[in-house]
Amino acid sequence: MTSASSLPRVGFIGLGIMGQSMAGHLLAQGHPLTVYNRSREKAAGLIGRGARWADTPGAVAAQSDVVITMLGYPSDVEQVWLGADGVVANARQALLIDMTTSSPALAQRLAAEAAKAGHMALDAPVSGGDVGAREAKLSIMVGGNAAAFATALPVLQRMGTNIVHMGEAGAGQHTKMSNQIVIASTIMGVCEGLAYARAAGLDETVLLQAIGGGAAGGFQLNVLGPRIVKGDFAPGFFIEHFLKDLGIALTEADRMQLDLPGARLARQLYTELAGGGKGRLGTQALFQHYMTGA
Ligand code: NAP
Repeated sequence: MTSASSLPRVGFIGLGIMGQSMAGHLLAQGHPLTVYNRSREKAAGLIGRGARWADTPGAVAAQSDVVITMLGYPSDVEQVWLGADGVVANARQALLIDMTTSSPALAQRLAAEAAKAGHMALDAPVSGGDVGAREAKLSIMVGGNAAAFATALPVLQRMGTNIVHMGEAGAGQHTKMSNQIVIASTIMGVCEGLAYARAAGLDETVLLQAIGGGAAGGFQLNVLGPRIVKGDFAPGFFIEHFLKDLGIALTEADRMQLDLPGARLARQLYTELAGGGKGRLGTQALFQHYMTGA
């Protein structure tokens, strides 16, 4: 699985907030890189740095040893992997890795279809946000067989620092759902705490210093807290993607007859924000809900 550069040839499909940075690290480390994205203009920066463009996901796959997808929704993943011009039908005994946050059931189906076509497959969603992607410090939670994981590890290490093999196909996505359930209640707590501080007239920047280093500290408070205080609601992570994740998590929980009141409340609040046209803001815009009631 090597090329002239002695590193595996990587195909990267999905060059949004996350994929753009992740693909950039692979290129910077010397992997021959072929890219595709629905809107071609997002590939311009990578092409300028030496990546090759291909016109379809299948054309990317045909010239890659490792194909990585970082798309928006499960429906995008299904189309890119299983469509006629897709990855599974056109790859040549490749390792296929879906890093999109998607459903565990789809991950299992993709692994089965990939195996039938002679490929290895992994589900490998990530956590760490836009900052983690930019700094190549993502947590990557992986589902699939051990041989595929061993092959993927050197490539995943270009993008992340905490890479954990969680089990068979779908286990990576289940792990990501657990992650999103934790975040759902955490971001509500951060927004409530900051709303309280504003109502009490505290200096919010000093407040972040005071509580960010204590037991309340963490990514949601320490990274998104300062954006909230500055009134910066631009997306690191889209509200509409978080709603997608909460939908998957709550469906899985229902199937397991598990009630998750925190995740249910977060979905309700975010649904109201998205209904008010805020679905393309970042998840920290939940703060606006606490300040204005929507
Ligand atoms: P994004 O900016 O919307 O990126 C998704 C990219 O996939 C877009 O560039 C989109 O193209 C492309 N795409 C979608 N469908 C496609 C298709 N059929 N063919 C080719 N390209 C297609 O989203 P993101 O923030 O990077 O997130 C990507 C995934 O990671 C999501 O599942 C998200 O839930 C998850 N995630 C995000 C974060 C975060 O902090 N942002 C953290 C962890 C996990 P267009 O340019 O045409 O829209």
